[in-house]
Amino acid sequence: MDKTIVTIPGDMPGLSYSLTVLRFGGTDPKAPKAYLQAALHGNELPGVAALHVLIPKLRAAEAEGRLKGSVTVVPFANPIGLNQFQWDDHQGRFFYGSRTNFNRAFALIDRPDPKLLAAPEAASCDRRLKAELQTLALDADLVLDLHCDNEGPNYLYMPAELWPHSADLAAALDCGAVLTFEGGTDASFDEAAFRPHLATGNFERRVVATVELKGIHDVGPETAEKDGDGLYRFLVGRGVIDDTSAAPVGPFTGKGVPQSYVEMVRAPVGGMAFFHVKPGDVVKAGQLVAEMIPVPGEPSVPVHAVAPGLVLTRVLARAIRIGDDLVKIVGDTRSVTAKDGGALES
Ligand SMILES: [Zn+2]
Repeated sequence: MDKTIVTIPGDMPGLSYSLTVLRFGGTDPKAPKAYLQAALHGNELPGVAALHVLIPKLRAAEAEGRLKGSVTVVPFANPIGLNQFQWDDHQGRFFYGSRTNFNRAFALIDRPDPKLLAAPEAASCDRRLKAELQTLALDADLVLDLHCDNEGPNYLYMPAELWPHSADLAAALDCGAVLTFEGGTDASFDEAAFRPHLATGNFERRVVATVELKGIHDVGPETAEKDGDGLYRFLVGRGVIDDTSAAPVGPFTGKGVPQSYVEMVRAPVGGMAFFHVKPGDVVKAGQLVAEMIPVPGEPSVPVHAVAPGLVLTRVLARAIRIGDDLVKIVGDTRSVTAKDGGALES
């Protein structure tokens, strides 16, 4: 294993960030290459926890000559966001310098040429970081960007071109759903990692996904072990690692649908939320999802599902502003709440 620490200068003198990159060398140049990163949103740690389990397995495979394809791992992909606190609260989603989401506004390039990714001379540190991450992932066949939601099961986002031949990843990680996107998602990392290879038209070998590993509080030894093992078995199944003792990946039995099938249920008023559903519940059209309570002691404002579907995720907060997302429901048809393109969330 090669460990490299990339220095990213801050935007003013006196500050720099360290990006740790781990490289495991494969023995077979024809085997698929993999790239995994976690915590692009700073404090989303379930992916870091899974990598904590996966890294020793990769080290062992490399030492024993069982690593066929090269693997690059960036356990903390965003040292800038990781260090952003406002008073006692972590703020890892948006760069403080510009309010840009760390998982948006990546460079969209049309061929895998690293020269196209070089950050301009006067680029801010978040742009330099993005260029670095994109370059690290550029020649990988398997690109996994490990995130998490507020509360929910494991699930995936991926380009529609890669579904359903990437169902092995969903099965290996025991995903509750797979959401595919066509066109743009505001230049998220997965979109930007896939775009240079779009013109090849040959996608069987390629997997590019945003992996949502449960909720932000699901960080601990049991989920880490399960997810780390799932990632390992996926890599074995894809021929990156040779390990006949690894349990094979079974079929995926969950939903794989366009992300436009997701109903984003939003709060019609601000106040306190009482939820009547939880992730994993199946709801009917018109079913009560939550009550919003703007004035305690006064009647609450009911919030209903528009269409039937599976409750995929639920927000952790109970103090909710008007317009905030309450739950995501995966339906069987395009949602009336769907936007034309772009990411599901800001
Ligand atoms: Zn995230």
